[in-house]
Amino acid sequence: MAKKKSKRENVWLECSQCKDRNYRTSVNVAEGTPKLKLKKFCRRERKHTVHKIRRK
Ligand SMILES: [Zn+2]
Repeated sequence: MAKKKSKRENVWLECSQCKDRNYRTSVNVAEGTPKLKLKKFCRRERKHTVHKIRRK
C-alpha cells in the first residue's frame, strides 16, 4: 500500500437556497473543514447559486 498520509474527506456541496446536495468533492480537513462557498449550478432551481461544504 503506497498511500500518502492525507486528511482528505469526501464532502457534499450543498445549495444554500434549497439545501439540495448537488455535488460531491473531496477537501483537505487537516486543519478543520474549509469554509468554501462556490457558485454552482443547481438543477432544482435551474440557476447558479452559492453552494457550501457539508460534511457527512
Ligand atoms: Zn438549489
